[in-house]
Amino acid sequence: MTQTATEKRNNQSRYIPPEQTEALRRTVPDDPVKLPPGSLACEGCGVAVPTARPTTSVTPSTVTSLPAKPVQFARCDSCKAVQQQAEDYVTAHPALAARIGTIAVERVESVLFGLAIIGQEATGDLGFLLPRLHPAAHGVRFANPLSLTRDLCSPYAWSHVTLSQRAELKKAYAAALRDRLSLSAPPVALRCPSGGCLFCGVASVPRAAIQVARGGGAQAATASVWRPVLVSPNGLGAKGPSNIAGHVCPDCNAAIEDAGAVGWPARAQAVVTYVGRENRAKAERLRAMLADDFPPQLPAWGAFNLRPNARPWDHLRRVIDRI
Ligand SMILES: [Zn+2]
Ligand SMILES: [Zn+2]
Repeated sequence: MTQTATEKRNNQSRYIPPEQTEALRRTVPDDPVKLPPGSLACEGCGVAVPTARPTTSVTPSTVTSLPAKPVQFARCDSCKAVQQQAEDYVTAHPALAARIGTIAVERVESVLFGLAIIGQEATGDLGFLLPRLHPAAHGVRFANPLSLTRDLCSPYAWSHVTLSQRAELKKAYAAALRDRLSLSAPPVALRCPSGGCLFCGVASVPRAAIQVARGGGAQAATASVWRPVLVSPNGLGAKGPSNIAGHVCPDCNAAIEDAGAVGWPARAQAVVTYVGRENRAKAERLRAMLADDFPPQLPAWGAFNLRPNARPWDHLRRVIDRI
């Protein structure tokens, strides 16, 4: 029987060389195998290490069906090298160690393990990958107390890592790459959902693009930056029967929290803080005026029907300039 040209092409394209099959196989999970005699499983990647000397022993979590007796593990050469790399990195980045403390090495190591599992090079700033990759990588070790086995090992490195764990790692890595791009992006203006801060009247608050990306995007960042409030007109320095719904910016929110309520003391504090950023002496003069018998009332932006302010408290610009 003769093959048509299309059939020949199809047969050729179905052929995968053995070394490629092997490489592909290592990107998907596989069942554990019996631990060879005189070996311990590697605590990281799970392969059998021909040694009787454990590097660590882990007690199974009560969620597993294993008896509480600790399981012993060793470290293969490649996972030993990862540990060294993590230690070197933390030594070279004392700020990271100061920030996250004694678990810094373990976290960096998890990131390195995560990169190895998804076949990515451990180049660039690991501290930068850490916030995204560590949550996805922290449960991948073979010695994870939640998924511990006894007398078993992985047939090849990381074969115990599930497809969903691999997918999470890839997703986290992609997010970290997007973070890197946002480092060079301009700040994001997070717009007030109700037009302007009820107190100072600014329409938007700038935030670094990386902060917005790590916070889950502009929508999530807006929700965390702008606090919704329902206030009495009196609290804004206005008159009227019904409460006013709106939002306040983080600076004004801090003043409200300090004062304990929306009202004149909070407005006064918010204006003093704002003026103090431009001119300390002026802020002191304002503070003295506020302590007088007839202090300025400093009505909030929400007391009027105005367009949003380009700068905080611009509707009080004439008062502020005269201080
Ligand atoms: Zn290993
Ligand atoms: Zn404000």
